[in-house]
Amino acid sequence: MSATRTTPEPLPAPKLGEPYLLTPGPLTTAFEVKEAMLRDWGSWDADFRAMTAQLCERLVALAGDTRGEFACVPMQGSGSFAVEAMLGSFVPRDGKVLVLANGAYGLRAAETLRYLGRAHTLIDKGDYMPPRGDEVGAALDADPAITHVMVIHCETSSGILNPVAEISEAVYARGRKLLVDSMSAFGAIPLDVNQIRYEAMVSSANKCIEGVPGFGFVIARKSELEAAKGNSHSLCLDVHAQWAYLVKTGQWRYTPPTHVVAAFLKALEMHAAEGGVAGRGARYARNRDVMVEGMRALGFETLLKDRWLSPIIVTFFCPADAAFSFSRFYDLMKAKGFIIYPGKLTVVDSFRVGCIGRMDEHVMRRVVAAAAEALAEMGVASAAPPAAAIAERARLAA
Ligand SMILES: *Cc1c(COP(=O)(O)O)cnc(C)c1O
Repeated sequence: MSATRTTPEPLPAPKLGEPYLLTPGPLTTAFEVKEAMLRDWGSWDADFRAMTAQLCERLVALAGDTRGEFACVPMQGSGSFAVEAMLGSFVPRDGKVLVLANGAYGLRAAETLRYLGRAHTLIDKGDYMPPRGDEVGAALDADPAITHVMVIHCETSSGILNPVAEISEAVYARGRKLLVDSMSAFGAIPLDVNQIRYEAMVSSANKCIEGVPGFGFVIARKSELEAAKGNSHSLCLDVHAQWAYLVKTGQWRYTPPTHVVAAFLKALEMHAAEGGVAGRGARYARNRDVMVEGMRALGFETLLKDRWLSPIIVTFFCPADAAFSFSRFYDLMKAKGFIIYPGKLTVVDSFRVGCIGRMDEHVMRRVVAAAAEALAEMGVASAAPPAAAIAERARLAA
């Protein structure tokens, strides 16, 4: 896999000895990021306004916009607030959204539209099957009322990396518009506006940029931002109003999470120092490769075939061995310094291990060693999954 590459120096361990968060956000952050929160900032002060401007500029640059066609609008709250803001602001009240779901976040987008009273229809692929360009095209051909398509970039509930590029092509070939939830991918997996067409995307502070939780952000085409005036159902979540106020005053409309913004700027600086999206993505891919290889050597199997495995989070089947208990495994892993994540499959038992956050392949080797010890302590002889899991996975064509 990687015989010739040199192994980088280990990243520093969490200073307070807290466990690593092998979760998709909040995640393990650098000490410097946490330290950046020690100072107070006045939200109206020029210093903080400059910080907001810098944050927006850097995020737009990460999306690859060099022509000034896109703008970034930060939004207070967790990532779901930003998703709701995007849907409520860019989909006109008489619009209709085709939601592509293959997990919890796609279903949450559809549920959001239900709350908003926006017309929508769903392609639900179940727990993890990827929505493909041809079926999106067929659905759009069959329903001319659909104005927008909503796709999840990395569906964090299984860890699948959805084929956003082919979906975008199918959408724009039919004159419709694409909205992307790139919450758990942006900053580590390219979503370059010059390569993949879309109108708006959302992500948040506490995923691949490795900030702390407290705000999300929308990166949108300025023409769409202008057209969004008056669409929103919500005062607080109106992306157009937030943007217009930001342009006019340099300020967020209501109290911004000042400390979180300061931490995020530090995180962006560290992201750039690591080589931007390519560097961050490469570290996460190494994390995944080392961890998956080690777990497979213990007998664990991944839900997804390699082609669909994201460098964000990986789903493993729980072992069939009767001595295995997920809650016991969780506690043992936590005692060894690693917080893992329960699975979200409806058909068979599973758990997830995140690859994102301030950790590297050295940490991932220790994760695998901890899993081996935990299995031994539980008396699990084999980590092989039940036959039902393998049969389920066989549905996923290469
Ligand atoms: C994390 C995440 C969200 C937002 O979740 P919050 O808990 O509201 O921050 C949305 N979509 C995806 C794909 C995510 O991974």
